[in-house]
Amino acid sequence: MAESKETPLMEKIVSLCKRRGFIFQSSEIYGGINGFWDYGPLGAELKRNVKELWWRSMTQQREDVVGLEASIIMHPKIWEASGHTSTFSDPMVDCLLTKKRFRADQVEPQSGNAYHFLGAINKDDFLHLLLDSSEHIDVRDEGATSFHLQLKTGATGKELTARLENLRRASKLSFCPDPFSVLATVGKPIESALKVARQFYEQRGLKDPTMILVGKEKVENSQRFNPENGALLTEPRQFNLMFKTYVGPVESEENVAYLRPETAQAIFAQFKTVLEVSRQKIPFGICQIGKAFRNEINPRNFTFRSREFEQMELEFFIKPDEAVEAISGRVANAADIWKENIEHRTSNAEHPTSGSQPSTLNPQPQPDWGWEARHKYWVQERIRWYESIGLPRASLEEYWQKKDELAHYARATVDILYKFPFGAQELEGIAARGDFDLSQHQRFSGKPMGVFDDELKAAWARLDETKKKELGQRYHDARLKYLAQMGVAAEESAKQAREDADGLARGNYIPHVIEPSAGVDRLILALICHAYSEDQAPDEKGHLETRVVMRFHPCIAPIKVAVFPLLKNKPDLVNKAKEVRDLLRPHLTVFYDEAGAIGRRYRRQDEAGTPFGVTIDFETLGEKGPELKDTVTLRDRDSMKQERVKIGELVPLLLEKVR
Ligand code: ATP
Repeated sequence: MAESKETPLMEKIVSLCKRRGFIFQSSEIYGGINGFWDYGPLGAELKRNVKELWWRSMTQQREDVVGLEASIIMHPKIWEASGHTSTFSDPMVDCLLTKKRFRADQVEPQSGNAYHFLGAINKDDFLHLLLDSSEHIDVRDEGATSFHLQLKTGATGKELTARLENLRRASKLSFCPDPFSVLATVGKPIESALKVARQFYEQRGLKDPTMILVGKEKVENSQRFNPENGALLTEPRQFNLMFKTYVGPVESEENVAYLRPETAQAIFAQFKTVLEVSRQKIPFGICQIGKAFRNEINPRNFTFRSREFEQMELEFFIKPDEAVEAISGRVANAADIWKENIEHRTSNAEHPTSGSQPSTLNPQPQPDWGWEARHKYWVQERIRWYESIGLPRASLEEYWQKKDELAHYARATVDILYKFPFGAQELEGIAARGDFDLSQHQRFSGKPMGVFDDELKAAWARLDETKKKELGQRYHDARLKYLAQMGVAAEESAKQAREDADGLARGNYIPHVIEPSAGVDRLILALICHAYSEDQAPDEKGHLETRVVMRFHPCIAPIKVAVFPLLKNKPDLVNKAKEVRDLLRPHLTVFYDEAGAIGRRYRRQDEAGTPFGVTIDFETLGEKGPELKDTVTLRDRDSMKQERVKIGELVPLLLEKVR
């Protein structure tokens, strides 16, 4: 999808991230390295909070999901089985002028006039050419500095090139024979194209090039030209996105390994081991958070497309629909489940602090749910989670991939998009992947990936013959389709599919999977974009000034509470403030700040997104009467309202607010 250029809002966000230490360029002192980012003190806290909340909601608060932390480098066969070695590639093009690299399918389509040049000659050699080649060319002067040559009607480019080549050989001419094209977008004159062409030929050694124009063509929605300068792009080449390395000291083919491009495959490879040790039964899930690496052709939009990033992935293993039907007598219709169970609530909350209530309820999964209901359940579950950490429903979109967009093994894929300042873009993909992954690992490793389901075995024995036949046939056909798609020979596929169907009757099957796969860094960027806001607040003299506030939901805010003594030079205030800081620290991330005017200190915390500020003043010390002794002011970042609270009540009150 083509993306628009960064907006000024994005620039403000990037600059705030750097200034306040959320995110900055990796290796900045050496000029940075494209596609790699570091998280500073605030960013690191924010990221940890988000990952912890995901982990908690996925595993610790559920009965049916367990965790895994696998290595980044794995056996290279894993990537053959998953298809990454052969197909994980993107089409790449380069600008012929600047060498800038693009993903061919993401070049912004453009319309206008394309000018095609056969080559160029030095202006000094002009005279020669005029004398020698006047039967072939016209000389056109389109502007003071933009002489160009145009073929006469009837002359062919080939004849002219041959002629020029002869002249060059006879040392009469500086001629560059590289063809080139430039697009002048609608409304732009030919000069703009000539200017770019000049640069192209200057790069090739001509001091003062005169271009040989051989054609002008109207183009519509073309992705063949660099949107930044109109220069022609190279033909697309496929480029594998995996980072390659070598295991051990010898850099030979047999020692090649890859940095994982996703965390999911480790889950599939360890599926049987985890199943055994966790004493789980299908349906259940395995989740993992970890680094992934993709040698993206064109990292862009800040951290949105990086080369090193983190993923939070769940593989939720389910029974195939035939097994569900055998056990429950039916497969529940997904649409009906949500129609019957969901009470829709509209969330009209604008700001995350008030928008944490999920807008929909999700029904509890039932034994008669097939893949469709399980998939929908996870889509809803994930949206609810995003809402719970401060992205309101209205900021998200659900994109159901169309049939022709689906990967060949996927039955359905939903992308959850966030409305970034540069457009609505994917945060997470939730795919129903059938039994593709485990089947692939079974074939490539030779190890069985199927499970035995005693419930299915018992249920199968109770089925009548017609039902057995029908379910067995459906399972057989699905297995056969997969094997044929994978290029397994017809005879072997037929035999294997038969065996698989017989296995189902005995309670064996390869589990199917629903995969919610989210990117941590994209989510952090979405949360930062959503939190960024500007409003007007009075400065110390009461004049209104623009205040930048990061309105993070308190549960993800890097710092939960800031503690301030009203004045730095009053030891009693400072000591009391430090006491309060030490009281809060075991429970919450606290920032203590005594430097500068109190208003400035509030502003600094507003920019850091700290939801609460506690100020210790003379009332706290009991100097304004005994009734206010040991109370503090508690300031709310969003409303800027202050209330007086007893020190003894601070911990439970704040813990309640930041949940
Ligand atoms: P895209 O189409 O944007 O390249 P994808 O569909 O290839 O993404 P998946 O392979 O489904 O992405 O990966 C799951 C998630 O991992 C994505 O939804 C995204 O949040 C994250 N992700 C993928 N590639 C990157 C990247 N280069 N930088 C940051 N996050 C990424």
